[in-house]
Amino acid sequence: MRLVLLGPPGAGKGTQGDRLIERHGITRLSTGDMLRAAVKAGTPVGLKAKDIMARGDLVPDEVVIAIIDDRLKEPDVQNGFILDGFPRTVAQAEALDKLLAAKGIRLNAVVELKVNEGALLKRIETRIAEMTARGEQVRADDNPEALKKRLDAYRVQTAPLSAYYGKKGTLLEIDGMLPIDDVSGVIEAKLKALS
Ligand code: AMP
Repeated sequence: MRLVLLGPPGAGKGTQGDRLIERHGITRLSTGDMLRAAVKAGTPVGLKAKDIMARGDLVPDEVVIAIIDDRLKEPDVQNGFILDGFPRTVAQAEALDKLLAAKGIRLNAVVELKVNEGALLKRIETRIAEMTARGEQVRADDNPEALKKRLDAYRVQTAPLSAYYGKKGTLLEIDGMLPIDDVSGVIEAKLKALS
């Protein structure tokens, strides 16, 4: 199974992604996680991405496309994967199509978690409170200013992917405002209906 998980920050991609990888035995490919690891390790990509990410802006397409290109060559993704946070622009989606076509594979579905924007800030606030309570370090971009930028970036650069994948017939639109278990249930039912 090869999936893309689409949705704004706070939509529940982390939670639903965890469930999908467990249920389907697939690998999660999160460009956000990979970039955060690069920032932590101080690699050239990390140095380039650090300030951009902290502001809540998007890292240049060519940087994330190169990361995904490399990652798709690794053995653990050959059984299937879920892309979380990639693609985020139409140019990235087109590049992904090319990468997959070169491998002779394609996406089974794009799962879009639809949520109303008013709920997102609250969800992120809850995430920050939970992480702080667990003694974990809060992400550099989990603050009101960066969040506003991340939501703007989503609205302007990423939301058009809904139409892009809608035209291809691979889009599954999911009501992300439902309780977590119900969201998972709807996703599984729609994936089943595909196969
Ligand atoms: P995420 O963990 O998916 O919320 O990503 C955190 C940050 O990493 C984003 O706000 C961007 O700065 C950067 N990032 C992650 N994935 C991408 C991508 N596909 N394209 C551009 N920037 C990205």
